[in-house]
Formats: sequence, C-alpha cells, structure tokens
Amino acid sequence: MVTLVLVLGDQLSPDIAALRQADQSEDLVVMAEVAAEATYVRHHPKKIALVFAAMRKFARSLEADGWNVAYTRLDDPLNSGSIPGELLRRAEEHGTRKVIGTRPGEWRLIEALEDMPLEVVLNEDDRFVASHAEFERWADGRKQLRMEYFYREMRRKTGLLMDGCEPAGGKWNYDHDNRKPASSDLFAPAPLWFEPDDTVREVLDLVLRQFPDNFGALSSFGYATDRAQAEAVLDHFIDNALPRFGDFQDAMLMENRFLYHALISAYLNIGLLDPLTVCRRVETAWKEVRAPINAAEGFIRQIIGWREFVRGIYFREGPGYTQRNALDHNRDLPPMFWGAETKMACMESVVRQTRDEAYAHHIQRLMVTGNFALLAGLDPMQVHEWYLSVYVDAFEWVEAPNTLGMSQFADGGVFASKPYVSSGNYINRMSDYCGSCSYSVKDKTGHQACPFNLLYWHFLVRHRNRFERNPRMAQMYRTWDRMTEHRRATVLENAQEFLEEMNNGACV
Ligand SMILES: Cc1cc2nc3c(=O)[nH]c(=O)nc-3n(C[C@H](O)[C@H](O)[C@H](O)COP(=O)(O)OP(=O)(O)OC[C@H]3O[C@@H](n4cnc5c(N)ncnc54)[C@H](O)[C@@H]3O)c2cc1C
Ligand code: SF4
Repeated sequence: MVTLVLVLGDQLSPDIAALRQADQSEDLVVMAEVAAEATYVRHHPKKIALVFAAMRKFARSLEADGWNVAYTRLDDPLNSGSIPGELLRRAEEHGTRKVIGTRPGEWRLIEALEDMPLEVVLNEDDRFVASHAEFERWADGRKQLRMEYFYREMRRKTGLLMDGCEPAGGKWNYDHDNRKPASSDLFAPAPLWFEPDDTVREVLDLVLRQFPDNFGALSSFGYATDRAQAEAVLDHFIDNALPRFGDFQDAMLMENRFLYHALISAYLNIGLLDPLTVCRRVETAWKEVRAPINAAEGFIRQIIGWREFVRGIYFREGPGYTQRNALDHNRDLPPMFWGAETKMACMESVVRQTRDEAYAHHIQRLMVTGNFALLAGLDPMQVHEWYLSVYVDAFEWVEAPNTLGMSQFADGGVFASKPYVSSGNYINRMSDYCGSCSYSVKDKTGHQACPFNLLYWHFLVRHRNRFERNPRMAQMYRTWDRMTEHRRATVLENAQEFLEEMNNGACV
C-alpha cells in the first residue's frame, strides 16, 4: 500500500524527517497550497508569495530527484481547502490510509492531523539543535528558564565557539561590546534581492488575485525562493554585514531598514537554510579573521540560543500558550498598526517598513511596536495575530513566544524575568526617529510629550503589585516615588488622555 508523505510549506528541506522515512520508489509526496493555511490569519502578501513559490520550486526539485509528487495549487478546482482535506482526497485517489509527516510547528495543525481518520505518523522535526526531550531535561526542575544558561548548553553540545571546555575568547557573551546607536549617514550594505523568475511571477499574480485586501505591499518582491538563492543571501551577509552585525544590532534608522541584519529568518524557518550549517559558516568567518568575536558570538547566540529556546518554550507550554494574558490587557489594536495615520514617527516608520517589506528587525519589533502595545495595554491575542500576519518569517512556534512571552509578558514571566519596556529615551538613543516626530521626546508631561514617556509610568503604576518587588525593576519605582505628587498626577492624567483619544479613534 502506498504511503502518503506530507511535506508542509515550512518543511522544504530535502532531508526532512518524513522524507527520510519514506520509500522513494513507492510512496507519494503530498504538497498543497490550501486556503485554510493561507487565511487563518491575514498573512502579508509577500509571506504567502514566498511560501507558495518556494513550495513549487521544492516540489520540482523532489521530482527531479525521482520522487512522485502530488502537488495541489491554490486555484486547482479540486482543492479541498485544507491539509487534512487534501490528505483525505489523495488517500481516496490512491487507495491508502497511511500518512507519514514531520510534526508541524503549530499546535493547531498538529491537533488537526492527529484527529484525522487515517493512520498518521508524525516524526519529530529534527532540524533543530535541541530535541524536545533535551529541552525538557534541561528545563525540568529549574525555577526560572533563562536563555543564557540554555545557550551555554547548546555551545557545549555543538562545540561552536568553544576552546575545549571554555568559551572561545574567554567569555560566553559579548553583548557588552554591541548595541551601539547608528547615525543616519552610516553606510550599510544593500541586501541581496532576486528578480522574480517565471515561477515567482506566476505566484505573484495568484496572490494579487486572491488576496487583494491583505495588509502589505507585494510590489518589488525580492525574497529568495530556493536553496541556492537562500545560500547566496547567507554568503552576502557573511561577506558584507556580519563584521558589523554585533555593533549595530540594536540600532534603528528610518532610511536604512536592514542595517547589518542577515534577513535569513524566513529561509531558516521554511527549511531553505539549516541553522547549524549557518552557524558553522559564521564560526569559520571568525576563525579566518573575517569577522570579530562580538559579531560571530552575537549572531550564533540568536540562532542556537534564542531560536532554540523560544521553540522549547512553545512546545513545553502547550496549546494554551497563545491564550495567555497575565497582565489582563484588553485594549483593541489601534488602526495605526494597519497603516492608519499616527503622529508617532517611530510607529509610523516601523509599520510602513513592515507593510513594504514584511520585515522589521528584532529591536523594531520589540522596542517600538511591542513596547507600545505593552505600555498601552493592548490585547495580547490581537498583538500575537498581528505579528503572525505581518512578518515574512512568522510561524507560530517562533512568533508566539517572542510576542506573548518576550514582548508582551502575557505568560507572566515564563520567558522573561522582567517586561521589556522603555520610555522614549531608549528609542531616541538607538534611532533617528525622534528628530522628525510631532511629539517631543524631551517632554515628560503635556500634550507634546512623547507617548512612550507617559505610558511607561502608566504601565508601571498599573502593575505595581506585580513588579515592584522585582529587583530589576525596583529602581524604576524608586524614581517614580521621588517625583512630586503633582508631577505624578500630571503624568498619569496625560497618559490616560492619550489612551482615551486613541480609543476614540483620534490620530495620536
Ligand atoms: C515581537 C517579536 C516577534 C517576533 N516574531 C518572529 C517570527 O515570527 N519569526 C522569527 O523568525 N523571528 C521572530 N522574532 C525574532 C527576530 O525579530 C527575527 O528572527 C529577526 O528580526 C529576523 O531577522 P534577521 O534574519 O535579519 O535576523 P538577525 O538579526 O540577522 O538574526 C539572525 C537570526 O537569529 C535568529 N533570531 C534572532 N533573534 C531571535 C529570536 N528572538 N527568536 C528566534 N530567532 C531569533 C533568526 O533566525 C535570525 O534570522 C520576533 C521578535 C519579536 C520581538
Ligand atoms: S518622540 Fe516618542 S513617539 Fe516620537 S519618535 Fe521618539 S519615541 Fe517615538
């Protein structure tokens, strides 16, 4: 009996577990572009285009390698509209009940596959450094899960940047040398983009027809859509941007959207690049003195540290993780997140960039849009759906812990020991946004005052019971307590006015 081999749109790796288990001479690979996956949130058109184009090219490469592939296009008349539906249809066509797959990166789809009236075997997705069992072993019995300690385990396990049992250069973490602000005239290398080929053009037409109202620009699509292109992006990054990656990792510039970032998260997440290979390439660049240790270490930490850690948390915390709302925040997402006018230059710039590119770098996501959402008390579920929709690299296993855990503290501290909040000072130090803003970052009260300055204190006061005993936040409460009563009352009143105006739909 033929076995169906399910390959999902983010499983485009030739050695994915399901393919390793299959028999090329007998089994049938099933791949499908389905409405259920394309619409469960309103994805950015560039994200849909990237995934469909990469799927089509991957299917062709499998066929060239000798696999039988049953591929369903989104507009095929017989398309049933969902992954389970397509498996049932193919099972009936081929008289089989057997399916092997690789465990999806989202509880929603895992549950849908496990509930199917077919014999479905899901293999662990082993394209990661740590297996689920390893993460559980590391996490069990710990009072707090902190990325830094997990990361050191991953360094020891992989031997990356290790000098025997010691970290290369004598330190585990070189963040102290990073986080420099950037000036507007900083030269940064242009990213490597690709002219759409026939496959990409066909998909772009489809996306334009089927998703005309989704937030995001489809024009000037330049993402890599196959392995060779993704590897070229990695080479380009290592040769041109890696040496200064660490220095300017946290900087934000209006006209320089990518700075020294790698732009590879989407390729890692859909399987066009392998995380460990990427890290070994970066380590080699450091060994060959083509990149300094602070850049190589900072970069490798993002991948074998943060990326692995967030995945561990997502699967450890279970399907209910996305429902968490520890701070009881429930304000609706204001229209500025979807491109409506705002007077805040930082928000306007990051949202515009997100609409154009389906990309914003980590600090833009964390300290501009995420910081604002947290300070303003926006509903974390709506915030989660926004991040899941608008970024080209957004898949729930990585997006949800970053958004709900790191950025919104909605998991109550499973992920982070304190909320990532800041006043306008931080944004002003790390970016060039404030210079062209209608608000004044120097003003701490009044109608011109930067909303981050007002909302920062409003947030701390709202959650005083939860945070004032946190040793990393005690200083902030001492500063608040030292202000005059009049000043404190004015800050809170101005913050409240801002929130009410925003709720009432005013342009703020
Ligand atoms: C609120 C919020 C939501 C996010 N949502 C996503 C998401 O949906 N998908 C996603 O891949 N990343 C997400 N991130 C993490 C990070 O912002 C992106 O991985 C990064 O911006 C991708 O751009 P890059 O490839 O240029 O990364 P670089 O800055 O060049 O970093 C290199 C690589 O490190 C990895 N990395 C860095 N930080 C993280 C992190 N915190 N978690 C996981 N991997 C990391 C990525 O694979 C990235 O490609 C989110 C962060 C925040 C604060
Ligand atoms: S002044 Fe405040 S709102 Fe304006 S850009 Fe700066 S941080 Fe953003």
